Order: sequence, then C-alpha cells, then structure tokens
Amino acid sequence: VNTAALAPRADVIVVGAGAAGLATAIFTRRLAPAVSLRLLDTAGKPGAKILVSGGSRCNVTNRIVRDADYWGGRRTVIRHVLRALPVPDTIAFFDDLGVPLHEEADGKLFPVSNRSRDVLDALIRELQRLDVPLESGCRVVDVQRAGDAFSLTTSQGIMTARTAVLATGGLSLPKTGSDGSGLHIARRLGHTIVETTPALAPLVLDPADASHRDLSGVAVDAEITIWIDGAAAVRLRGPLLWTHFGVSGPAALNASRHWERARLDRATHVEVTASFGPGEFDEVDARLTALAAARPRASVSTGLAGWLPASFASALLRRVGVDGNVPFAHLSRADRRRISHALVKWPLPVIATRGYGFAEVTAGGVDLGEIDPSTMESRVCAGLFFAGEILDVDGRLGGFNFQWAWASAAAAARGIAGRLAAQWE
Ligand SMILES: Cc1cc2nc3c(=O)[nH]c(=O)nc-3n(C[C@H](O)[C@H](O)[C@H](O)COP(=O)(O)OP(=O)(O)OC[C@H]3O[C@@H](n4cnc5c(N)ncnc54)[C@H](O)[C@@H]3O)c2cc1C
Repeated sequence: VNTAALAPRADVIVVGAGAAGLATAIFTRRLAPAVSLRLLDTAGKPGAKILVSGGSRCNVTNRIVRDADYWGGRRTVIRHVLRALPVPDTIAFFDDLGVPLHEEADGKLFPVSNRSRDVLDALIRELQRLDVPLESGCRVVDVQRAGDAFSLTTSQGIMTARTAVLATGGLSLPKTGSDGSGLHIARRLGHTIVETTPALAPLVLDPADASHRDLSGVAVDAEITIWIDGAAAVRLRGPLLWTHFGVSGPAALNASRHWERARLDRATHVEVTASFGPGEFDEVDARLTALAAARPRASVSTGLAGWLPASFASALLRRVGVDGNVPFAHLSRADRRRISHALVKWPLPVIATRGYGFAEVTAGGVDLGEIDPSTMESRVCAGLFFAGEILDVDGRLGGFNFQWAWASAAAAARGIAGRLAAQWE
C-alpha cells in the first residue's frame, strides 16, 4: 500500500536502519518525543551487520576509545563527535536496554550473553517501545531539496520530511543492503565524497609465493610494516593468521586500509613486511646468538620452536635455505643473520585486499570538513544529517566502528532535536 502519498510530512526521516540509523532514531525520539519520525531500510530484515559482527558476538565498543583509533577525516572532528557519547554512556545505554557488556582482551566489550542477536533485538524493542515504526524493504533512491524540506523518492513512493538523516553505511558486505547508494545521494546534495576503499579486509598474497599456503591455519604474533617508497609509513602489531589466499587476523585486517590508500594515492612503491622478532634486527640476532650459546647442541628448529610456532619456524628455515637439523653450534654467522633478517623483514607480497565482500568497514565517504561535528548537520545542505560509516571515518578492529556509529548517532539526534526546536519557536 502506498501510504507515502497520504502520509503527512514527517519531521525526521532516517535512511538506513543499521547500528547508526537505529541509534539515531532512538536518541532522537528520546530527546524529542513529539517529533514524527520514520526509519526506512532497503533490507527486509535490517541489522544484518550487527548480527554477523564480532563473530556473531558483536564487539559493541571498547573500554578506551580515542581519536587515534580512527583513520579518515580530521582527528579533531572525530574527537569532537566521539565526545557526544563517551564509552560509559554507551555501556549504560545497553545496560538500560537489558544488554550488559563484559570486557575481554584489549578492552573489547561484548554482550555478557555473547550473542549479537541480543544487541539487535534490544535496539528494535526500544524502537517499538518508543513507537518508532521501522519500515523495512523500503529503498531510498534519491533525496532532493523541496523548499525548506526534503522529498525522498523511495521504492514505496515519495515521502517528505523536514530533516533527513543519511545513515546508509558504506560499501562493506554489500549483501546486507549497504551498497553505497547513500554516498551517491549525498554527492547529489552537494557533498564531497572522499574516494572509498575496503578496510579491515584480509590481504591476498601473490600466488607465486607458496609460503602462505604451506602455513595456512598458522597464527603468530607479528608487526606489519607498510613501506611507501622505501620509508616505513605505518607499523601495526597483532596476531597474524595465514590462510590459503594470503593473510588475515587483526594485524592484516588493520593493515588493509593503509595498503588500499597507498595504492589510491598512487604511491610508486608499496611494500608490506612482517616482523616476528622481539625487536629490530640487532636485538633478534643477539637473541639467536644467546640461544646458540645457551643450547649449542640443540637443533636450530628446536631452538626456534621455543619462540615461534613449530610450523612457522620450519617454513622460515625453508625460506632462508637453512637445514633445521643443524645444531646451533654449527650455524654459520651468515645463516644466523639470514634467519634474523627473515624474522624482522618477512615479505608479504600483497597483490590485493579481498575487497568489499570481505571488508568489515569502508574507508573514505562523506567529507568530515562539510559536517558540523556538534550536530552532524551538513554545512552544505541545511536540515541534512549524517551518522555512521557513510562518513569518512574508519576505526581499527576492536569495537571502534560501532562506537563511531553510536556516538555520531547521539550527536545527530541532538542536532536534529535542536534544529526542530528552533523551527518551532
Ligand atoms: C563481518 C563484520 C563484522 C564486524 N564486526 C564489528 C565489531 O565486532 N565491532 C565493530 O565495532 N564493528 C564491526 N563491524 C563494523 C560495523 O558493523 C559497521 O561499522 C557498522 O555496522 C556501521 O553501521 P552503519 O549503521 O553506519 O552502517 P550499516 O550497518 O552498513 O547500515 C546501513 C543500513 O542502511 C541501509 N541502506 C543502505 N542504502 C540504503 C538506501 N538507499 N535506502 C534505504 N536503506 C539503505 C542498509 O540496508 C543497512 O541496513 C563489522 C562489520 C562486518 C562486515
């Protein structure tokens, strides 16, 4: 039934019912109970990304969230937006909704139940309690200015609203409904879109380099370095997981956006290496020398196995052409140095990331310079607001992307409530 034509003009239409859109609708209604509010989403069952997040456990936020945990637009703008919802307020918000959180390694906060379904259900229950209808299966094709309001062309007909919120996400995991259409709408409304790339995506290595296939399934702590034109541009530490196509795990996922951005910036020479040592070359070499002195009769592979996973130690020795059965006492200085070098500068011949289909988030998006960070209102199109991943912000792994969604939603809700109140005065 095309109710749109009959419907009166809404005060607010939120486009997209992912984490950011759901939270924007809830916060707006709580701040301004009298506003008429509609929440639209293409998907038949919105919230798919919440369900798959954090291995179906949903890493809702992190105990410590700083602007330095994000990439994209200006840090000062990101910091400003994050202040709209400090982490204790996120924790209290979910606690009030009946979803207490617990902390795991690296400050990651998950629902005590370890079920992402509980996060989504709680948000939808709260929408229902606040009497905000969630109109699923409704795709917004375009948003245009219509005098002092907006006209939305949707799969369910034309709708009008005094304020519109684009919370349509980025391009990651497009099968969930986030196909980038919101970015095109923002561009048509006058916004600059910082070119997008996948982020938090596994890295595909050159198939000619067989070592990753031999190592498939092995996980090891590493520091990944991205070298741009010979200089170390970024260093990222964390677990690295070898797979049949290349590398995954937190270190690789966090590195992916930097590799993509370097390519986008047309850096002439981008190299990626991993270090598995406790420090730089000299430190690693000194450690091997000490190991040789302490256990001269131990074989090189046995010695390394105390330090690295055995399968990785043998792959490393194969790579540098050293027989692992040789006792340390017989290891030549040149071979020892070759091992040390491989340990601190293991080449990862990245040829691609696995793309949006496997990316957890999108780098790039609506330029932060065109947003008022106190209200999330567009500086180029009054009455238009943004929240979530559609903006040029991407967080590292650990709950930071959801925290961005919640915080930008809180800021947008304040902005919308303030704008509507000012219009009513
Ligand atoms: C596998 C995976 C695991 C993740 N795990 C975590 C984690 O544990 N912790 C964390 O912090 N982050 C995680 N993330 C990232 C996090 O899910 C996103 O950053 C976050 O969901 C972004 O929220 P959003 O609301 O801005 O966008 P989205 O979740 O993408 O939602 C956008 C919504 O808008 C709708 N939409 C799009 N275009 C239109 C249109 N034209 N008309 C109507 N509706 C439209 C879409 O259907 C969608 O429902 C993960 C991501 C993935 C893919």
